[in-house]
Amino acid sequence: MHCSHCGKCCENTEMPLSEADIKRLERIGYPRRTFVRYDEEGYARLLNKDGYCVFFDKENKKCKVYKFRPLGCRLYPVIYSDEEGIVVDDICPMRDTVSKIEIERKGKLLIKLLKILDREAEQRLRLRQ
Ligand code: SF4
Ligand code: SF4
Repeated sequence: MHCSHCGKCCENTEMPLSEADIKRLERIGYPRRTFVRYDEEGYARLLNKDGYCVFFDKENKKCKVYKFRPLGCRLYPVIYSDEEGIVVDDICPMRDTVSKIEIERKGKLLIKLLKILDREAEQRLRLRQ
């Protein structure tokens, strides 16, 4: 795809994080509490600050952790919709530049990621009980 770096996908993000994503970001110096929130269903998600992901550099419209960003951010704008399955997110202005091959490749990775996220959320809920 041709990303225009508009930053829309980093605005009020609800991007879920796997433990592997969290550990990768911890290793480069970000303590978990500074970028992770847990929702009521046990999913870990990116924190927002002033309407954007905590890692978004508003001035330069750049991700501060681009090389280390969560897998969900790498797979975006390919997302999973409960109604339609694997789709390209409507809010991305460059969605038409995502090729069929890319949707297929990213879709497969996304299904794997979702299974991991579900498993980790279940484990957290069990620990909360
Ligand atoms: S919304 Fe689309 S074009 Fe804009 S930064 Fe995200 S992926 Fe790139
Ligand atoms: S980690 Fe980077 S790419 Fe992902 S939402 Fe945050 S600023 Fe955007």
